[in-house]
Amino acid sequence: MISNHGTGHNESMIDVEEALSKILAVFTPLSIKEIDILETNGMVLAQDVISQINIPPLDNSAMDGYAIKHEDVNNATSTNPKRLRVVATTAAGDLPYSTLLNNESVRIMTGAPVPKGATAVVPFEDTSDNFKNKISTNEEVQIYTDSIIGQNVRKAGQDVTSGETVLKSGTKLHPSHIALIASLGKATVKVFRRPEVAILATGNEITKPGNSLDKGQIYDSNSYGIAAAVKESGGNPLILGIAKDDFKSIEAKLNMCKEADFVITSAGVSKGDFDIVKDVLSKNGTIEFHSVRMKPGKPLAFGLLQHNDKQIPLVGLPGNPVSALVAFEQFCRPAIRLMLGNELKPRATIKAILDDDIRNPDGRRIYARAFVYKKDDVYHASLSGVQSSNILSAMAKANGLAICPENKPLVKSGEEVAVMMLYWPSEVF
Ligand code: AMP
Ligand code: MG
Repeated sequence: MISNHGTGHNESMIDVEEALSKILAVFTPLSIKEIDILETNGMVLAQDVISQINIPPLDNSAMDGYAIKHEDVNNATSTNPKRLRVVATTAAGDLPYSTLLNNESVRIMTGAPVPKGATAVVPFEDTSDNFKNKISTNEEVQIYTDSIIGQNVRKAGQDVTSGETVLKSGTKLHPSHIALIASLGKATVKVFRRPEVAILATGNEITKPGNSLDKGQIYDSNSYGIAAAVKESGGNPLILGIAKDDFKSIEAKLNMCKEADFVITSAGVSKGDFDIVKDVLSKNGTIEFHSVRMKPGKPLAFGLLQHNDKQIPLVGLPGNPVSALVAFEQFCRPAIRLMLGNELKPRATIKAILDDDIRNPDGRRIYARAFVYKKDDVYHASLSGVQSSNILSAMAKANGLAICPENKPLVKSGEEVAVMMLYWPSEVF
């Protein structure tokens, strides 16, 4: 658990991995809730899902056509068709016709139950039945092809059998999983609940988008980028607003987040005169570290906020908007996924050929904003703009973060780098 440094700050910079493991050590999966499957996209199952039914429930047709006995159409061709009497028409939702006798057929639609005694379905295209010439019950249909047992018949239980474990606890739910659960007739499922993530911007100069901009002010971009990233990670963002750079203002705002599972602040964590998030945190809890060997994102505070008996993890992201988003990726997204019960898989990393140099003068891990594209089946990464931590437009043009290791003073253009992919734009890949 977190050690109590009181108000004393540990001045040393720690590595990204150490920072991440210290952060993740205080998080656990949240409580389990049974909720409407419509709300569960991206959540993690907290139960095995077991089917009580066969899917499909009955043998049914995979085509629009004629249900037949395969032995009745042996050697049938268009020049030597077999004639079968049509005894019924069956649509999806109807009960199965009972029972097909020799030289009989049932006109059948996709999804409709196959009659007892039928062994195959011949599609309309291979019969004398078409839209111009629709054949009615008690008439004859000509079959132009032979067939084998089971052809175009979807067997009961082919997809799922009754009693089968269809999904395991721990599965992250995607739309296909949700469709599968619905197909079993289940409207609710047990998942780990979503974390409530409080987001606080700090800074005297910060104002809300939509307000007019007074001299010296800038708009709050961090709260919005962080809120979107929280949502994308699976959490519920709760925007606390903007605190002034004074102890009381920050403390008062943090007092509003007692119900939160996680607090993310931005700015006020470096070494300036007004960087007092750390002070507020150490007075109201504990600080574990406040400096990470990475660029951007070096000033990054982590600790526990004490609210009566409850301790709420707090990550104090840097103020610069690029730093805030890059550091969110490394530390906050994994923490949110852990609370959601997820196996912690990092964003996919690919190897790419760098188009530009990355200089690393002070031995930190650089996450350079880069655009990855494919040329002649090889990934290339171009820096997406000026690499200062305030240049949000370069972050917005990036689809990945090219990683320059701590011990590498220079990665040269033409060298291979690892790129952590933030997005996979389909127009490129
Ligand atoms: P600080 O960490 O307070 O020194 O802030 C570093 C830089 O980030 C300063 O230029 C701030 O103006 C800027 N900044 C701080 N908070 C925000 C925010 N919420 N949105 C956009 N920029 C911010
Ligand atoms: Mg500030």
